[in-house]
Amino acid sequence: KSVSELIAAGEVIERPASIVKELLENAIDAKASAVTVEIKQGGIGFIRITDNGIGIAREDVPTAFLRHATSKVRTEDDLTNIATLGFRGEALASVCAVAKVELITKTAGQELGSRYLIQGGENGTLEEAGCPNGTTIIVRDLFYNVPARLKFLKKDFSEGNAVQGIVEKIALSHPEVSVKLIKENKTVLHTSGNRDLRSAIYSVFGKDFATGLLPVNYQHNGIRVSGFITKPACSRTNRSMQHFFVNDRYVKTRTGMAALEEGYKHSLMVGKFPACVLKLGIDYSLVDVNVHPAKIEIRFVQERPVFEAIYFAVKSALEQEDI
Ligand code: ADP
Ligand code: MG
Repeated sequence: KSVSELIAAGEVIERPASIVKELLENAIDAKASAVTVEIKQGGIGFIRITDNGIGIAREDVPTAFLRHATSKVRTEDDLTNIATLGFRGEALASVCAVAKVELITKTAGQELGSRYLIQGGENGTLEEAGCPNGTTIIVRDLFYNVPARLKFLKKDFSEGNAVQGIVEKIALSHPEVSVKLIKENKTVLHTSGNRDLRSAIYSVFGKDFATGLLPVNYQHNGIRVSGFITKPACSRTNRSMQHFFVNDRYVKTRTGMAALEEGYKHSLMVGKFPACVLKLGIDYSLVDVNVHPAKIEIRFVQERPVFEAIYFAVKSALEQEDI
């Protein structure tokens, strides 16, 4: 591996959580209805992601690990929606450059599946394997060949928590997928996959949070706002429970947070903050594409219509409670 390739991989892969995010998104892209994530040593020693999606045909396996190999961008039209496409064919290439990777996969059309072993981005070995339909990827010894990167990782405990944070957000963005997380041999999360957002919230944040919610369902300026906000009585002492999703992806949006809080303006005491799991449905052309694809902070081409949509959605949900 050349130094420049290792640097490129290091840019997209900072820590176990970034790997888990990419691999989970791949599983969802592969139409999985159930995904299990298992980590040990905070994901630094071991990550295993198993899905029941479409799998990868044997002849396509080595290609999937090449940089810019993607089966997802085919047309220019797809390219204008690039903000939604994660690493654009870089995730598997980057992971195998900085860790030891084992892939086991089978498509429904194949009798036997495949096992592929690759480490440090060198030529992998491909063989037949008996396995169920779907894909399992095991990532071992992250940064074993990049000691400088390894030093920058936090303690296993913190890295494991970061992984859990990512898994929770993806579980909330896709309530139609049953997501399970096994952290250091303990199941810490398991969503039903029944499509119901409230039930996913229940699994992720627990009963107390899930019972203090008001439903939001609103359309304004061509923007759809749905999900849940907390009842004023269940507000928090900080903003850590303000979760926003745009077109089913977790994002950080200052506009969203500001609009949410403005909506609660006369309903909350000083020092109290609303919480939410809010989903925005918005035309991709209104989402700023100049944002780095791996970053979650997003901007809108016009912030005002988005602010208004969220503000009025929150107002109307709070008024429903008063009735
Ligand atoms: P991207 O997701 O941007 O296409 P990746 O490097 O993440 O790039 O994956 C490369 C390719 O490998 C994907 O385009 C897809 O064809 C295949 N792939 C990766 N993960 C899976 C999976 N879990 N199930 C089926 N195919 C997968
Ligand atoms: Mg991907």
